Amino acid sequence: MAVCARLCGVGPSRGCRRRQQRRGPAETAAADSEPDTDPEEELIEAGSAALSGAGDDRSAGHSSPPRCSLLELPPELLVEIFASLPGTDLPSLAQVCTKFRRILHTDTIWRRRCREEYGVCENLRKLEITGVSCRDVYAKRINPRVKSGRFMRILPDYEHMEYRDVYTCLLHRYRHILGLWQPDIGPYGGLLNVVVDGLFIIGWMYLPPHDPHVDDPMRFKPLFRIHLMERKSATVECMYGHRGPHNGHVQIVKKDEFSTKCNQTDHHRMSGGRQEEFRTWLREEWGRTLEDIFHEHMQELILMKFIYTSQYDNCLTYRRIYLPPSRPDDLIRPGLFKGTYGSHGLEIVMLSFHGKHARGTKITGDPNIPAGQQTVEIDLRHRIQLPDAESLHDFNELSRVVLEVREQVRQEQEKEQEGGPEDAEGLGRQSPQPCEEPPAEPAQAPGDGGAAAAAEPPAQSGQGQPFVLPVGVSSRNEDYPRTCRMCFYGTGLIAGHGFTSPERTPGVFVLFDEDRFGFIWLELKSFSLYSRVQAAFRNADAPSPQAFEEMLKNIQSFTS
Ligand SMILES: [Zn+2]
Repeated sequence: MAVCARLCGVGPSRGCRRRQQRRGPAETAAADSEPDTDPEEELIEAGSAALSGAGDDRSAGHSSPPRCSLLELPPELLVEIFASLPGTDLPSLAQVCTKFRRILHTDTIWRRRCREEYGVCENLRKLEITGVSCRDVYAKRINPRVKSGRFMRILPDYEHMEYRDVYTCLLHRYRHILGLWQPDIGPYGGLLNVVVDGLFIIGWMYLPPHDPHVDDPMRFKPLFRIHLMERKSATVECMYGHRGPHNGHVQIVKKDEFSTKCNQTDHHRMSGGRQEEFRTWLREEWGRTLEDIFHEHMQELILMKFIYTSQYDNCLTYRRIYLPPSRPDDLIRPGLFKGTYGSHGLEIVMLSFHGKHARGTKITGDPNIPAGQQTVEIDLRHRIQLPDAESLHDFNELSRVVLEVREQVRQEQEKEQEGGPEDAEGLGRQSPQPCEEPPAEPAQAPGDGGAAAAAEPPAQSGQGQPFVLPVGVSSRNEDYPRTCRMCFYGTGLIAGHGFTSPERTPGVFVLFDEDRFGFIWLELKSFSLYSRVQAAFRNADAPSPQAFEEMLKNIQSFTS
C-alpha cells in the first residue's frame, strides 16, 4: 500500500484500507458507480472518474459485480484500460500516483490515442523503412515540379521520438486547427483543409480544377506543415513558394480562428522576379498562359487576382467553416461543389438545405460576388416544369415560365406578410432563427417544401427528362448533362464590381443527379454547372445545426 500512501496524501491509506475492509480486496473497482464524498478517497475517485469518461468502460464496470482497487490490477490490464481513455484524460491520470505515471510512459497507449483520435496510422519507427509516409502521399498528389524532394528535405529525428510526444506536443497542442477553414483573402476566399498526415499536421489549400472542367478532381498544395523536429518541440514551416519548407509560425487567435505567418518570405520569390512568379501562378491557377486567354476582361480579372492574392503571402487569417448537416429528406446530399462562374473561372460553393429553401454559399469568390455570399437560393416549394423538348430551345418560352413563377412567389410572399406572425414563419425560413428547431421541419414537410420531390415519382425514379440550354444562353462548359431530374425556381445574386448594388435575380435550378446541378441565370443569359467535390474531410462536421447557421451568417458578414 505504499502507492496508496502517495495516492491519498495525508492520512491516506486509511481510506483505502477501510474500503478494503468494508468491501473486501476485490470489490473496489466499481467504486465509480457509488458516489462517495470521503475526502480521503477523493484521489482514487478522480482516477475512477477518469475511467468512467470512456463510456464503454463504465458499463463494463457496472456489469462486473466483484470490486477491486484499480491499483491492484496487473500493469498490462491498466495499459489496456488507459489506452482506451481519451488522451486528454491521461495527464491528470498520471498525477494520481507513481504507478499510473509509470504505466502512462508505455508508448502503445499513446500510439493508440494517436491512431483513434487523430487517425495516425504509421508505425513511427517503420515510417521511413516501409515508405508509407506523407512524403509519398505528397508525391502522389502534387505536380512533379513542386514535389522535387524539397518537401521532406529535413527529416525529423524519428529514432528518438515517442508517440507520447507526438500526441502531447503536436496533435493535442494543435488540435484546434484541424478541419476546414476559409482564408481571409478579401473577396477571393478559399478552402483550407488542415489534416494529420503521417506524423505531420499539414494545411492543404484546395483549389478548383482548371476552368471549365468541373468534373475534374480538386487540386491542392501545402501552405504550411507542423511536426516534431525534436522531442517536445513542434516546428511550424511555411510551404508557400517553390523553394521548400522554411520558418513559419501559427497563432491560434481565438476559437475558430487562427493565423499563419511566414518568417522568410524571401523563399517565396523566384529568380525570374515578378514575371516568373506570375507565369508560374497562372500555369498553376489556370493551367495556361496569358496569351492563351484571349478574352481581355478575363485577362484583367486574372491579373487583378494575382496582384491582390500575392499580397497575402506573408500572413493569413483563417476562419473555421463546417460542412452542412445532412437530413434524410434533403433533395440531394448537401456539401461542397465546384461551379463555373464565367470569366471568373471555377469557384467553390457550399450547398445546404434550410427547410423550404436550399442555398449555395460561396467558399471562394470574386470581385463581383465575394466569398461568403449566397450565390444562389433555391425555392423548393416551386418546381418549374420545363417546356417540352421542342420549345426548350426558345429562351423566351423558358423566361415566360420562370417569370410566371416569380410573380406567384411574389404574391405568396405578400400574402404571408399580411397574414401575421403565423404565416410569417414560413418566410422566416430565410433567416437563421427558425433552424433552432431543426427536427420539426422535415417531420411536418411531407406535403411541401423539401419533400416536393417525393410528390413526383417519375422524376425521382431517375428516368429524368430531356434537357438542353435555350439558344442564346452561354455556358463555359458545353459538357453538361442532357437529362435532368427536376427543376426549381431560384434566385441568383448578381452585383457590380466591388459587390456594388447586389440584386437577387430570377433563375432556374436544374438538378441533374446526386452529384451535379446547374443554374440558369435568366438576366445574364448564362448557365453555371456545378459538380460535387468528392474529397472526404475530417473534423469538418458542425457541432449543431445552429452552429452551422451561425457560421454561414459569419462568413457572409465578413464580405458584406
Ligand atoms: Zn513562407
